[in-house]
Amino acid sequence: MSAVIISGKELATEKRSYIKERVEQLISSKSVQPTLAVILVGDDPASHSYVKAKKKACEEAGIKCIVEQYPTSLTESELVNRIDDFNKDCAIDGILVQLPLPKHINELAIIEKISPEKDVDGFHPINIGRMMINQETFLPCTPYGILEMIKSLKVSITGKHVVVIGRSNIVGKPVGQLFLKEDATITYCHSKTKNMEEITKRADILIVAVGKPNIITANFVKDGAIVIDVGVNRLENGKLCGDVNFQEVKEVASYITPVPGGVGPMTITMLLQNTLQSASKKANKLSKSST
Ligand code: NAP
Repeated sequence: MSAVIISGKELATEKRSYIKERVEQLISSKSVQPTLAVILVGDDPASHSYVKAKKKACEEAGIKCIVEQYPTSLTESELVNRIDDFNKDCAIDGILVQLPLPKHINELAIIEKISPEKDVDGFHPINIGRMMINQETFLPCTPYGILEMIKSLKVSITGKHVVVIGRSNIVGKPVGQLFLKEDATITYCHSKTKNMEEITKRADILIVAVGKPNIITANFVKDGAIVIDVGVNRLENGKLCGDVNFQEVKEVASYITPVPGGVGPMTITMLLQNTLQSASKKANKLSKSST
């Protein structure tokens, strides 16, 4: 039997309408306008299209989105200065520096300059640390979106074997941590993993975040597994595809995410959620200090 397709697009629409309601409440009851500042450096076409999609999603949810664009020649210290300005500006609830940055700028150093209280991407080492020890924080958007997708299926995660392929700081590593917190058993695979097929075949939930088109075929997947495809790859014909061979794997899996329309829309939704969370926290602090 063919797998049920998990529509990230539909789930994202549902969640965004709830976020919009909460944004409206925050504006009307606390006079706080949730605001996200996005910094885009250089002319990478994919980055430009991601930023455009984020701005559109913010505006549809009633979140103000300020986009600042700079040429590739921007220096690291100029970028740091701009981040500092946003850190100090009380009207800004979230700061996002679109990655990748030009090669002469140290990405990790830049992420560390964003105030952890405004790091709505959830990439700051302090926020990653808070996530590891289960403290309240901004969860990184893609892993957070994946967890929300699985939770929407109403299947139990406890005791499930989750296999994550990929160990990047923004997807692979944190997604495993989020499922560990949900009492799953986690195995990570990466480019040096031997006999990967034997490991992935034992996954109840298989999360693939590699960035290579169609590398996961049906023989990597256990009958009835849930398969989450994070990969976004542009083929020579201009079409987008994931890391999972969708046509083959959907015949084996119980649930599967498509590309496009799967993880991507949920990633942006969780960015809206994190910005709202930051603005709500600020509103609560303001009300406490005025009483
Ligand atoms: P990344 O930093 O390049 O990491 C890729 C990971 O895949 C690395 O850990 C690498 O292993 C592993 N890998 C590479 N070849 C492999 C192989 N043949 N077998 C097993 N593992 C292999 O990428 P990323 O930032 O995590 O992104 C992964 C994909 O997700 C990309 O296509 C990206 O565009 C997409 N993405 C999508 C969203 C979304 O919202 N939809 C968000 C973020 C990323 P090593 O560590 O050993 O090198």
